[in-house]
Order: sequence, then C-alpha cells, then structure tokens
Amino acid sequence: MVVQRTFRHRIFINFFVVFSIFTLAVLVYQYDREKSYRTGQLENTLDNISEFTHQYIEHKRIFESSDFKSLDTLKSLLPIANTRLTIVDMTGKVLYDSFVADVQNIENHLGRPEVQKALYSGKGSSIRLSNTTNQKFYYYAKNCKKYFVRTAAVYNVDIIKFLKTERIFLVFIVFLFGLMWVLLHYTTRRLSEFIVKLKDFALKAGQNEDISKMDSNFQDNELGVIRRQIIQIYDNLKTAKDDLTSEKEKLYGHLQVLKEGISIFSAEKHKILANSHFIQFINMISDKSTISAEHIFSIPEFSKVVDFIEQYQLQQIQTPNKELPQIEYTIEKSEKFFHIRCIIFLDKSFEVLISDVTRPEKQRLLKQQLTSNIAHELKTPLSSIKGYLETILNNPNIPGDKQKYFLEKAFAQSERLTDLLNDISLLNNIEDAGGLFEFKSLKLSPVIRDVIENLKSRLTARNMECNIDVGNDVVVNGNESLLFSVFQNLIENSVNYAGNDSHISIRKYLEDDKFYYFQYSDSGAGIPEEHLTRIFERFYRVDYGRSRENGGTGLGLSIVKNAVLLHKGEISVRNRAEGGLEFLFSLSKK
Ligand code: ADP
Repeated sequence: MVVQRTFRHRIFINFFVVFSIFTLAVLVYQYDREKSYRTGQLENTLDNISEFTHQYIEHKRIFESSDFKSLDTLKSLLPIANTRLTIVDMTGKVLYDSFVADVQNIENHLGRPEVQKALYSGKGSSIRLSNTTNQKFYYYAKNCKKYFVRTAAVYNVDIIKFLKTERIFLVFIVFLFGLMWVLLHYTTRRLSEFIVKLKDFALKAGQNEDISKMDSNFQDNELGVIRRQIIQIYDNLKTAKDDLTSEKEKLYGHLQVLKEGISIFSAEKHKILANSHFIQFINMISDKSTISAEHIFSIPEFSKVVDFIEQYQLQQIQTPNKELPQIEYTIEKSEKFFHIRCIIFLDKSFEVLISDVTRPEKQRLLKQQLTSNIAHELKTPLSSIKGYLETILNNPNIPGDKQKYFLEKAFAQSERLTDLLNDISLLNNIEDAGGLFEFKSLKLSPVIRDVIENLKSRLTARNMECNIDVGNDVVVNGNESLLFSVFQNLIENSVNYAGNDSHISIRKYLEDDKFYYFQYSDSGAGIPEEHLTRIFERFYRVDYGRSRENGGTGLGLSIVKNAVLLHKGEISVRNRAEGGLEFLFSLSKK
C-alpha cells in the first residue's frame, strides 16, 4: 500500500505541478495582455487630451500671448479626473503645470524620458513615481513643434484591480483547475491500479509462484508488453533453473553412486558439497565420529592436505603445463588403505577425493607374499637337485648303483619342479588370462572318465573305487583341460589323503536353468575343521611332510577353486558326517 500511495502521489504531484505552472503561465499572459491593453487605452486618452490641449492653445493663441493660466479652465473638461497637464518649451523650460502654480521654480524638463522620446520621435511615454504624490504616473509627451504638451495620469493597472475586473475569467480558471484535479485523480488512480497489478505480478514472479495462471487483465499497451516480457523472462529463467537443478541432481546422483568419497570446498574451506562415501570414509579414518565434511581439517591424517592448501594459497605455487596443483598419498587405518587426493582449482576452491584401496592394496601384498612363497617352493627341489649333483661330482669314485640312486632322486626333484611350474603357470593363466581359455558345450562324464583312466593304476594300487553318477546328458559350458584339472586334482588328493580301500563318489545332485550342481566326496579321514577355511589358499597344506611325500605342490585346490570360478560356478568344502571330505560345486550350463 505504501508503494501504491507513493507512486500515485508522485504522478499526481508531477501532473499537478505541470498543470499549475501552465495555469499560472496563462494568468501571467492574460495579465500582461490586459496590462498592455489598458496602457494602450490610457496612452490613447492622454494623446487625445494632448491633441485637444494643443488645438486649444493654437486656437486661443496662448503660446504667443503666454497666457497659460487660461488653460486652467481645461482641467475640469478633461475625461480623466486629476490629469496633470504640463507645457514645456523646446528648451525644456516648464511654461505651465496644472499641479504647480509657481512654474518658475520647476526644474528643466528636457531630461525627462518622455520628453526626450518626444523630441526625437514626436511622442514618448514613461511610467515612474511622482515626487509630489508618491504615486505611479503614466507620463505622455507630445511634440507640437514649438512646445511639448505633456499629460500624466495615475497609472493603476495593478494585479488586484485586474483580478477584480477578470472575475469570470478567474472563475473559469478555478473551474478548469477543479476539473483537471478530478481528471488527474481518476487517471492516476487507474494508472496506479495497473502499476500495482504489474508490481504484484512481478513480485509473484520473483517469489517463484506460478504466474502463468495469474489475472492477465492487462490492456494491450506498454503494460501488456511488460507483462508478456516478465512472463518470457520468468519462463526462460525457470527453464534455465530447472535445467541447472536437473544437471545438479544428475551430478549429485553420480557423486552418490561413486565408490570414491568426494567433497568440494570453497577457498575459505567451507563445504560446497560432499557425498555420503566421503563422510563414511572420514569416519573410518578419524577417531571421532562426525557428519561434517569440514571435520577433515582437524584429522591428523589430513594434515598433508591442510599444509598443501595453505602453502598454495600463500605462495601461489605455479604448476608446469597449467596443470591443476594436486597432492596424493595413501594412508593406512585399521587394516584399511585409503588413497587421498587433493586438487586445487584456479579460483582456489579445492576438492578432496578419498578412495578405499584396501582390496588392490591387499592384493598387491598378497602377490608380494605369493612371489616369495613361489621362490621358497622352487628353492626346495632346486637345492635337492643341486645337492645330489654335487655329491656325484665331488665323489668320482662313488659306486654306480649309488650314482644311479642320486640321479634318480635328482630326476624326481626335477619332475616335482616341472609339476610346480606347470601348476603355477596354470593358476596364473586362470587368474590373469582367463579369457584365453576356450569355452564350449561339452559333456562332463567323458572328461571324468578320462581322469579316472589316467589315474587308474594309482587307484587300483590303493584298492580305491569310483562311483560316478553324472549322466551323458550333463553338458556344461566349459574348458576341457581346466575341467580335467579340476577332477584330476580332486581325485589325486583323495588317492593321496583318503587312504587305501576308500571310495570316491561324484554325482550331479541338482540342476536349474543356469547351473548343474555336483557333489564330490571320498570316504577318507577328512580335514581337521580349523584348516577347512584355508585349504583353497595357494601353498596351504594341512600336513606339509605328507603333501611333499605325495608330490603335492599345495596348489591343487587353488587350481580347482579358480577353475570353478572361471566357469561361473561356486565351490565349498566340508567334512562328511560319516567321514571323509566333501566338495559341493556348480558349473554353468551356458
Ligand atoms: P597338495 O598339493 O598338498 O595336495 P592341495 O591344495 O591339493 O595341495 O590340498 C591342500 C591340502 O588339503 C593338502 O595338503 C591336504 O592336506 C588337504 N587335502 C586335500 N584333499 C584332501 C582329501 N581328499 N582328504 C584329506 N585331506 C585333503
């Protein structure tokens, strides 16, 4: 309401001032016109009096007789009462004055403005105060060749008189003023109504309310154009805002699904945005729980980041190739590894990325451990071979049968070395180059039969039996040599660890759309429970001595597990209640 009044008042006052100036200008003009009209009238009357006086002087030959006193009779005849009549000769000497009896003492009148004008142009006038009456007089002088006739009357063309005489005109002006007032009132009210409507419209648009359905009772004039323009700008802004919001949501959604923790901070270290992983990670790293991303600046593990930011902000580190300055390092906390990265942007805002690298880091450590295990495993047969050969070389007189014995031992160790290397390379291939194995639909039972055939002599030697219940219709999507290895390792282990007279059972116990499920078991002694969880690990043996005795590499079950996984299957192991070890595993159909 305040705005409305102010605006309306302002317009009203502006119009009012303009109209008042206009009215005043009309009055001044009218007054001026009236004044010059009245002055003209007065001058005309005075000219007539002068002419009449001149005629009278000529007729009565008063100038020749110098009987100017006879002019006194004229006074009462003049049309304007109190008209002053003065006769001045060409030298300026006053010959007669109707107001002054003793003309001798009157000063020379040649300098009077009206006389001066009459001297040069026949007649002249001047308005000034009279010394005697202290009234404003209109003096008029006429040049009559031999003398000047000067007449003067009270000059009373004043404003009050004018206002009195022009009463009707004034009433008209006041009426016009009133009319204008009413018109102005009405016009400004209508105009302010439009403006208020437009203001409400703009306010609603500013407050993000839906303006498309708002009262659109705007005329098709400039206000209508402004309204349309506001809608246009509002629509454009809304679209831009919606686009921005959806982009922001997309980005935020993306940040939320990222496995990395990410947070962006302003140059003043205030959080701009942070995803939930970021908060989760800083909680894992910090000893105190927090929900604030800014907490990282007080965690000792992030002091490197804080130092880096401060150093950059103080010293303006320049990076080559205009790359953004960044720092990265890894921290370890409670058996977990985190990779920290901080990037500073040109406007000195910066982002901190935290990624959980525990798995790759652990894998790296595992590989390291594996390499040293392999070296250790290789060392044993190699040093045996070296020992046997050295014995032969250092003892040239060693009997032939002894020599043969050492050579056979060395050969057996070299066989073991070959097995070890073959197993290592097979495992590496499964793990690192699984894609190189050719997969096709193949019947499983011939593969199993081949393995048994291969191990027949050893099975017979131990009086072991194999019971196979895998039909000819069982077709898996697999790699023949890998599946061969799976059954070879399982049966070989049973031969080695289950003992004489034990038997083996291999059966398909279930199938669904995607998988066949198999059970492999033997009737041996099984494995002590505490070892069960680890027997798929590389080089893990329950009884190291016995494994070596049997020529085991400690890699057999690792190969089995990795080969099953490569076939998209799963494998588990348990001891059977009735004794012996049992493996349950699946192989994919397609
Ligand atoms: P290895 O080359 O030593 O046989 P594996 O990885 O094949 O290595 O087996 C790991 C360990 O699991 C073996 O050392 C053995 O102690 C145990 N094991 C494997 N299969 C059997 C089984 N059928 N019965 C009892 N113990 C077994």
